[in-house]
Amino acid sequence: MKGKLLWINLTTKEIKIENIEEKIMRQYMGGRGLSAYYISRLTNSSIKPLDKENPLIFSSGIVTGSSVAGSGRHSIASISPLTNYFTSSEAGGYFGTEIKKAGYDCIIIIGANSKMCYILIQDDNVEIIQDESIEGQSTIEVDERIREKYGKSVHIAQCGPAGEKLIPYSCVTHDLRSFAGRGGLGAVMGSKKLRAIVVKGTNKVKIKNNDYLNKIKKDNIKDIINNSTSLTKYGTAGIVMGLNELGGLPTRNFKEGVFEGAEKLSGESLTEKYIIKHETCYGCPIRCKPVAEINDKYVVSSKTGAPEYETIAALGSLCSVDDMQAVCKGNELCTEYGLDTISTGCVIAYAMECYENGYLTKKDTQNIELKFGNSEAMVKLIHKIANQEGIGKILSKGVKEAAAIIDEDTNKYAMHVKGQELPLHEPRLKFGMGLGYAISPTGADHQHNMHDTDFDEDPGFLKNFGIFESMDAQILNCKKTYALVEYSSWRHFLDCAVLCHFVPWSARNVVEIIDAITDWKTNFYELIKVGKRASTLARCINISRGLKPEEDTLPKRFSNPFLKGPLKDKKITNENLEQAKKSYYVLMGYDENGIPTKETLASLDIDFKFQ
Ligand code: SF4
Repeated sequence: MKGKLLWINLTTKEIKIENIEEKIMRQYMGGRGLSAYYISRLTNSSIKPLDKENPLIFSSGIVTGSSVAGSGRHSIASISPLTNYFTSSEAGGYFGTEIKKAGYDCIIIIGANSKMCYILIQDDNVEIIQDESIEGQSTIEVDERIREKYGKSVHIAQCGPAGEKLIPYSCVTHDLRSFAGRGGLGAVMGSKKLRAIVVKGTNKVKIKNNDYLNKIKKDNIKDIINNSTSLTKYGTAGIVMGLNELGGLPTRNFKEGVFEGAEKLSGESLTEKYIIKHETCYGCPIRCKPVAEINDKYVVSSKTGAPEYETIAALGSLCSVDDMQAVCKGNELCTEYGLDTISTGCVIAYAMECYENGYLTKKDTQNIELKFGNSEAMVKLIHKIANQEGIGKILSKGVKEAAAIIDEDTNKYAMHVKGQELPLHEPRLKFGMGLGYAISPTGADHQHNMHDTDFDEDPGFLKNFGIFESMDAQILNCKKTYALVEYSSWRHFLDCAVLCHFVPWSARNVVEIIDAITDWKTNFYELIKVGKRASTLARCINISRGLKPEEDTLPKRFSNPFLKGPLKDKKITNENLEQAKKSYYVLMGYDENGIPTKETLASLDIDFKFQ
């Protein structure tokens, strides 16, 4: 099964279509892996994230658009303005399927337009349309204007005003609902003066054996629905109370793991008070996308969905805010401006801790009382960050850069890995996740990571790797590191194929799905190898851009124990982390400096020359 690649050069206006060899499609399976393959060929260490030569790659996966549960996803990749390394972020919804229906597996955009523009893709008809009038408008306004012109059924990926302003943690929003949130991909769009990509496809997605695929769907749909009831009812917000009870709900900038206001932020509370309907991604029966509407202290329209777990914890417990209306308003504002809610929440929590400890004063914050728990301050700060006003200008650079400007001493409050702010999963609850943050090619990232608490009563999916006993979530030994290597490779593969991690497909099901779509007669080990190839190639790109092993680390805060709560005294010591890192390098076939060996590259069929 060959692939189709659409090249768009915004500088020269050249548009061309190429085939992607079947061998490459099979080795990378689309998504993150295919993007890493092209980024490794199109960039060198002198290309900066916001240079026009930096490619922006939208890639569907082998599974995208196949209509199995979880197949409505795609990946966006580039060199990140937040980390200066490879980044890839995956989004659900309908945009990925529409790319596939338009006939493309991958879209590579290079160059930059001189004025604000958008790209219109209607099957083979691809146009670059200059439109300065959309510049500076909110994502809602741009979404409405484009739909007025091209009809309601188009699918729209866009950066917001934050991306136009090159804020390094701006995101790409799809149909105002689904986000490629991490890594600052919105700023890469903004640097190209590319406000949106509008897609309408009319082709059928190619499937080799439709009857087989339909049988897999039919045989599994009941189990998938029955095993996802909490997700369907509450969305990802359903995990708030469970994490709080375990002592791992990130609170007050990761100082604590239990939040006294958790109940007000729970999925149950959100659903009962503010959810008016549930939406879904293409082909998915789980429907885990709730939509909120509020007409009260805050007015929140249903146009921007509802906050997911990461957003609730980032703008809520992390900032000690227990006002769900304010969190919903913050979610709406981040969508309108095009800001990643995870990084935004981390930046605000960092600023609150700086304020409480005297590193910022009212004079610095333009009179905002920036204390933990001040929900109005949280909402005001989102406006200031997006508009780069006052203190917002410094905070719009992300916690790493902000700490360098405000006071080097505030590095202790800057929760990031390689410049990317931490997702809302506490490493002192999930030790494997902590190691995963440290070594991920995309900085602190939960997407291709391991949630240790899934395996502390039953090894579940880990049985596929020969692990038949449960593992304590708060342990980081060789066995845990081995589990992370294999499980994370699986998740990297899922982000290549691009299949949603929430859908409880078994490994066997996934092999069958790939076979039905491609007739490749694959197996589980080939799929794991795809994941290892993708993460190793991403690491190669990073090493050639200057990555050093000392950057594979965690913020110091996690080597200090919690002083109270169910996780009292839990910490990941530096020695423990360094030992686990060494094991990780060995198990991945990297040398003692974390550089993939020649033999490893050969075994993964990676053709990469370090500069
Ligand atoms: S489980 Fe949720 S996020 Fe995943 S594909 Fe289904 S609706 Fe989308």
